[in-house]
Amino acid sequence: MSDPMNESPGPAPVPAPADQVRIVLVGTQHPGNIGAAARAMKTMGLSRLVLVAPETPLDDDAYRRSAGAEDVLAQAPVSATLAGAVADCRLVLGCTARNRRVQLEQLEPGPAAARLLRFAAEGPVALVFGRERTGLSNEELQLCHASVHIPSDPAFSSLNLAAAVQVLAYELRRTLLAAAPAPAAPAREDGPPATHDQVEGLFAQLAQTLEEIDFHKGRAPESAMRKLRRLFLRSDLSVSEVRLLRGILADAQRMARLASGRLSP
Ligand code: SAH
Repeated sequence: MSDPMNESPGPAPVPAPADQVRIVLVGTQHPGNIGAAARAMKTMGLSRLVLVAPETPLDDDAYRRSAGAEDVLAQAPVSATLAGAVADCRLVLGCTARNRRVQLEQLEPGPAAARLLRFAAEGPVALVFGRERTGLSNEELQLCHASVHIPSDPAFSSLNLAAAVQVLAYELRRTLLAAAPAPAAPAREDGPPATHDQVEGLFAQLAQTLEEIDFHKGRAPESAMRKLRRLFLRSDLSVSEVRLLRGILADAQRMARLASGRLSP
């Protein structure tokens, strides 16, 4: 008889696409809206809710407005920062009620749902919603690969938070129901894709390198970094590409330090 301890465990089960979609609520002010968002998710087959620094902890109103989606609320982790909540995500989309100064690609809900589900075949993905009063900050939007806008009336563009979650959750469900069984994603030639925090690590080193090689020459660094972030976020980097770029940056930093050492009196 074969020894069960010697048998290979077999491939790990692949999570269903809906289980890869994380709904992230940032800085929510009214716990009732969190409950209503959980209900909106559960009606559409979503269950992965993540709260980022909610202003008030979950209360009776939150559980009442969840109307039976208590399980979604009860298992929602709380993260101190948006970066922490999406660190392992393959794709992060931020929902905005209006256009912002941050120049991000803007998607409508249908294409956003399709893109999320495409990336969900490779790992977790996130759909991020902002505060009731002020939405997402520009810094938070900068962490997103693209923004999503529900084409509401420009003169009255802001939906209630849970209503916005409902629209996107419905689009995700519609897309899932319409989709033919997804073929297994072909292995990428360039190896596994980089996670969000790996790409953020690259950005931090890039910002530091630009300082060290005096790239900005007195100009404000934000504009160049915004453009570089957009470029790299668009290019869907792999782990090995991030490693290559960071290696180049490390050499540039080493040369800059050598040069400044040589030039200093
Ligand atoms: N006064 C805020 C609106 C916040 S509404 C502002 O002007 O930004 C709370 C959240 O619901 C928003 O941060 C956004 O994530 C989502 N939301 C509301 N209306 C939306 C719309 N038309 N399209 C996409 N997301 C929307």
